[in-house]
Amino acid sequence: MTKLRLAIVGAGPAGIYAADILLKAEKQFDVSIDLFEHLPAPYGLVRYGVAPDHPRIKGVVNALREVLDRGDIRLFGNVHFGEDITLDDLKRHYNAVIFATGAVRDADLEIPGIDAAESYGAADFVSWFDGHPDVPRTWPLTAPSVGVIGNGNVALDISRILAKHAVDLLPTEVPQNVYEILEASPVTDVHVFGRRGPAQVKFTPLELRELGELRDVDMVVYDEDFDYDDASRAAIETNKQVKVIDRILQSWRQRDSVNNAGGTASRRLHLHFWAKPVEVRTDSEGRVAALVYERTTPDGEGGVAGTGELREVPMGQLYRAVGYFGSPLPGVPFDEKHGVIPNHEGQVISHDSNERIPGMYATGWIKRGPVGLIGHTKSDAMETVQHLVNDQGSWWQPEDPSEDAIPALLAERGVAWTDLEGWHRLDEHEISLGAPHERARIKVVPRDEMVKVSRAE
Ligand SMILES: Cc1cc2nc3c(=O)[nH]c(=O)nc-3n(C[C@H](O)[C@H](O)[C@H](O)COP(=O)(O)OP(=O)(O)OC[C@H]3O[C@@H](n4cnc5c(N)ncnc54)[C@H](O)[C@@H]3O)c2cc1C
Repeated sequence: MTKLRLAIVGAGPAGIYAADILLKAEKQFDVSIDLFEHLPAPYGLVRYGVAPDHPRIKGVVNALREVLDRGDIRLFGNVHFGEDITLDDLKRHYNAVIFATGAVRDADLEIPGIDAAESYGAADFVSWFDGHPDVPRTWPLTAPSVGVIGNGNVALDISRILAKHAVDLLPTEVPQNVYEILEASPVTDVHVFGRRGPAQVKFTPLELRELGELRDVDMVVYDEDFDYDDASRAAIETNKQVKVIDRILQSWRQRDSVNNAGGTASRRLHLHFWAKPVEVRTDSEGRVAALVYERTTPDGEGGVAGTGELREVPMGQLYRAVGYFGSPLPGVPFDEKHGVIPNHEGQVISHDSNERIPGMYATGWIKRGPVGLIGHTKSDAMETVQHLVNDQGSWWQPEDPSEDAIPALLAERGVAWTDLEGWHRLDEHEISLGAPHERARIKVVPRDEMVKVSRAE
């Protein structure tokens, strides 16, 4: 029977689901899969994106772990595609590759002052609070008033982590260094800014509702933002999710903290709608001092128009949560505008000619852009895998498809890769670190320590 030797690059949900779907698919050939992951731990943004106080979502890890534990997928962690292993290597040893490298960078926001000191991208902050090994261990949480630009769930995650009392994060897997810095934070006010109105936000109801339940944090909404136009009213009437969001926001309008008038909590989380950021003001040392925004109004077509009215909110730190963006991979076509690998239903195509490139596939956020939940990466993977199976006639014909060739190649290059057994070792180690403190786990943060534990060195 023919055998498909498949490389998957990226062990986030998209890569792992693709492996699972392929192994379960009806097919006329055997399959052997090698999963390459840049980090010494699998699960991508489930481990390094989803907030530590969302253990329910982190539970997805159990499903992903079951896939890896099937026993027929080899994991090569701590292996960076483009440096430790290249496209030419893959062509020499595999019949095809699926790229599932996700999106880890922040999208740009082009307003004056955005590069000021104390202005940050959401992705960097998220990586920090989730203990990503490649970001600094410290974070300067020194400002009482902080701004967050964006009206999606990542903006909510950041605002929640900033506003929440650190002690309430303790039972989670929040890394120790992160807990200590959050614990010392002087924050009192977190201001969230969205260009559009309450009926156009991209929050999901569950995540929004959670904000209103934070201990000792007042939710502050402003009555002036709820003067709905016809399009907003129609959205609330016809879309169940928008209706629930409106209901949550309306309930906050009944609280004493509405219009920042009363409230007794020591911290406040303000939601500013119809607020389009136009400039970051800085102090004499070039640090964030205020965000200037233009008040917007509905344009009658579901969008917004500027009113010309400028307002300013003083703050000492600013985060932009305006989307993630994919990164190019050496030798692989890349669409600079959208931050994705150009593809047709997961088959990689040339960016210039739109012609299909045999043997190369994409799935997950690097395929369709950084939108959608973990569950969406499953349907994504199904589409990609279906093409891979149907394309048998155009797979690469590798010179050396033997399974031994890969460990030999990595060893020759001095790559300290980690495998599935090593991941189990690290996983158990982290859980055992947390146990005496009644915590889910304490993450090992430094990469060299992760590798050491995994490799039992
Ligand atoms: C802050 C944040 C919070 C989120 N919260 C939720 C939530 O609560 N619920 C929910 O359902 N979804 C949530 N999501 C969305 C969810 O994380 C994504 O839908 C999902 O992770 C995308 O999967 P992916 O596999 O495409 O990408 P990723 O999860 O990013 O995985 C890509 C993997 O590829 C690896 N990689 C990248 N480059 C290379 C390379 N050159 N060589 C080798 N490996 C490489 C990366 O290290 C990573 O492990 C959140 C996203 C973010 C950003």
